[in-house]
Amino acid sequence: MSYAYHEPSELDEALALLARHGDDAHAVAGATAFMLLYRQGLLRPSHVVGLRRVRSLGGIRDDGGALVIGATATHREAERSPLVARHCAALARAFASVATVRVRNQATVGGNLAHADPAQDPPAMLLALDAAVTAVSPGGTREIPLAELFVDVLTTSLAPGELITAVRVPALAPGTRAAYVKFLPRTADDYATVSVAATLRRSEDGRVADVRVVLGAVGPTPIRATSAEDALRGAAPDAARIAEAAALARDAADPIDDVRGSAAYKREMARVWTERALRSLVA
Ligand SMILES: Cc1cc2nc3c(=O)[nH]c(=O)nc-3n(C[C@H](O)[C@H](O)[C@H](O)COP(=O)(O)OP(=O)(O)OC[C@H]3O[C@@H](n4cnc5c(N)ncnc54)[C@H](O)[C@@H]3O)c2cc1C
Repeated sequence: MSYAYHEPSELDEALALLARHGDDAHAVAGATAFMLLYRQGLLRPSHVVGLRRVRSLGGIRDDGGALVIGATATHREAERSPLVARHCAALARAFASVATVRVRNQATVGGNLAHADPAQDPPAMLLALDAAVTAVSPGGTREIPLAELFVDVLTTSLAPGELITAVRVPALAPGTRAAYVKFLPRTADDYATVSVAATLRRSEDGRVADVRVVLGAVGPTPIRATSAEDALRGAAPDAARIAEAAALARDAADPIDDVRGSAAYKREMARVWTERALRSLVA
């Protein structure tokens, strides 16, 4: 099997190619996920549209306090970016948690989000940070909050031929702390067995003013553990309250049995790692 490879330098050109070839075309950025699916015969496009030369899709910038990461920025660029580190060190950590340096040098932030594998690292952290992607199609541009982007395993709400141009991470409210923890008991470059991304802000009296808890790898999409958040909001985050919230996170997890563990084990690990993440935020 073979395909025609296109390398447009303008976004309009990329969109036009995807529109012209319809179901016969597939976009690629770093091609790390694409190549695995192609080799397994799960994708058989006649036209592949490479996005890496489209300059407007790259780069990382500060936009009035919001962090904007271009779709073709690699994980390595994001991990090492002073702007990302300044915005949220835990986000830099989530990018650095992806596989190996070799994969991070190739794989892009936009490709990761569009691939929508629930065991990936950045999606959970970006959802905890209330990020949204900017998506463009011949019909126009729209913002898609991450909570609406992920629909199912390897499935997003992007329309056919629609491209992510960037992910936008809003400014964090002053005093917000964030954590990303990845539990990978097999090898250091594996996908997570369970990951937890959390943000927490306390008011002057020490109570929790705002909190977000997102679980990765334990459901068809990253899961926002809203019951755990509700247990914490307005409360003093002492050890007992954090343990209660972590138990609720366990109940929110919806994992499957696979090579990384049984569903029951992953649920329990969701509790353990949520408790650890939350404790680190109030320490
Ligand atoms: C060996 C290995 C280990 C890995 N381990 C981890 C890990 O530990 N943690 C983790 O988070 N991830 C891991 N990954 C997944 C990796 O992060 C993704 O494969 C990668 O981020 C996808 O980015 P890409 O640029 O290579 O996408 P591509 O392979 O180019 O594309 C993937 C999909 O996204 C679509 N796409 C790409 N860019 C866009 C865009 N701008 N707009 C719309 N659609 C787009 C493509 O059409 C395709 O369907 C691993 C991958 C490999 C190969």
